[in-house]
Amino acid sequence: SFDRTPLIAGNWKMNMDHVQGIALLQKLAWTLDDAKHDHDRVEVAVFPPFTDLRSVQSLVEADGLRVRYGAQDLSDKDSGAYTGDVSGQFLARLGCTYVLVGHSERRTLHGETDALCAAKIAAAHRHGLVPVLCVGEGLEVRQAGEHVGHTLEQLRGAVAGLDAERVAELVVAYEPVWAIGTGEVAGPEDAQEMAAAIRAELADLHDARTAARTRILYGGSAKAANAAALLKGRDVDGLLVGGASLDAEEFASIARFEQ
Ligand code: PEP
Repeated sequence: SFDRTPLIAGNWKMNMDHVQGIALLQKLAWTLDDAKHDHDRVEVAVFPPFTDLRSVQSLVEADGLRVRYGAQDLSDKDSGAYTGDVSGQFLARLGCTYVLVGHSERRTLHGETDALCAAKIAAAHRHGLVPVLCVGEGLEVRQAGEHVGHTLEQLRGAVAGLDAERVAELVVAYEPVWAIGTGEVAGPEDAQEMAAAIRAELADLHDARTAARTRILYGGSAKAANAAALLKGRDVDGLLVGGASLDAEEFASIARFEQ
């Protein structure tokens, strides 16, 4: 049994235009409904591209869907001369609950630093969004056995300034970069090891009661076939799913990992 409500989150990345996105979300909602999914027991969220958010909002509101949604990134600024950036203010108005911060693809392809992640987390909070902070090591760091130190440094760099209540509501996704989109999955023991280390670090920065409330997800080639095993770890509170979230039935099966 979980003390924390598990969160199954689907990162669509740069896939699904707004027409495809609506079809995917509709099918996901129907599949979960057919299976009598209890949304209070296992929370389900999707992270579509920015350009799908308005359509997702319309569908969620029109059909009263219990699926939550968020964006894959946000600006650390609120408005102004920042061509191409998207403000947390806009995301909040589109009904987003969550926003990813520091996904490894943002860090690698756009040079996002821990300091920028901290600023983006602050921006998310200014607009009532819950950040899903992504952390995790690359293959070389893992092979050198430095994955825990590396990941905790990313964590500290991004959450250092937060008060206890913000830490408690935060979602942290541990995503070893070598496992993202590669079919290579971290073992359930690896996922649990890092989730426990992240929780211990948050307890150190704040206190154990606060850290006991933070949800910590695993991400990296998660799918229906490995979801239950990954979620056995007592500190693993959910999954951030990329590729497998683009198939409504597969993603719904992941959300129904207990069955
Ligand atoms: C991700 O990018 O967040 C991810 C976990 O991708 P995948 O599931 O495809 O490895």
